[in-house]
Amino acid sequence: MDRQIKLHFLGSGTIMPDPRRSCSAAILETPQARILVDIGAGTLRRMAIEGIDLHSIDYIFITHFHPDHSGDLAPFLFALRNSRPARAGRLLQVWGPAGFFRFVQGLEQAFGKWLQFSHEVKYHELRRRLLDFPGFRLIWSKVQHAPESVAYRFEIENRAVVFSGDTGYCPEIIRLCKKADLAVLECSYPDELVVQGHLSPSLAGKIAAEAGIKKLLLNHFYPDVLKTTPVEIAQKYFGGEIRIANDGDTFTIPLEQEQADKGVDG
Ligand SMILES: [Zn+2]
Ligand SMILES: [Zn+2]
Repeated sequence: MDRQIKLHFLGSGTIMPDPRRSCSAAILETPQARILVDIGAGTLRRMAIEGIDLHSIDYIFITHFHPDHSGDLAPFLFALRNSRPARAGRLLQVWGPAGFFRFVQGLEQAFGKWLQFSHEVKYHELRRRLLDFPGFRLIWSKVQHAPESVAYRFEIENRAVVFSGDTGYCPEIIRLCKKADLAVLECSYPDELVVQGHLSPSLAGKIAAEAGIKKLLLNHFYPDVLKTTPVEIAQKYFGGEIRIANDGDTFTIPLEQEQADKGVDG
């Protein structure tokens, strides 16, 4: 079987209700793990539509606490609890930036025992800049948006995939994207309406060019930016491949085949 990284887009939109674009959420699948990056409002239903079992998720990484990136964490945990023991003892690790423990405590206070787990779910607050997990390495950086906002770089074998979360144009995101195979950058507003702490097509294109990435995936669109031509605008700065992410889209990156996959054992 072909070894690959699979990126499955659940939500490419923002908090503005849009029938075609749910809030931020994407599944990054490596040969060893299923990782959910952001869990914005509506993610649980998007997973059901795409046929993704919530028990198949090994990790959740949250970029910041705005509800379009974190709003379905409580429903996800409630669903997990109500469908026990289907998880069969498998651990779910949920990671978030500084303040995440306080965020979880707040949810537990609001929802009570329904969100409390003894051993199936473990919460982690990011501290070390580089974290090794089975089959992937995570590097994160603070970015310019909410005070806690981070962007994530996943390194899987010799490949790298970056998720900006929400961010403005800043040196940290350029550094984190350096030579990445794929960068998923937010593209909230058209150039003329862009505000501090968000990106536009030109700014996303500039980051892609300055970081020397291979492929740029634009997502997190407020309605006005989609009335323009984001790909063409970003292309003025970045000569590599640029795509618009839509809900339900899947992107793959091939990995080197292992010896065992080459048919030695028939
Ligand atoms: Zn935000
Ligand atoms: Zn957002």
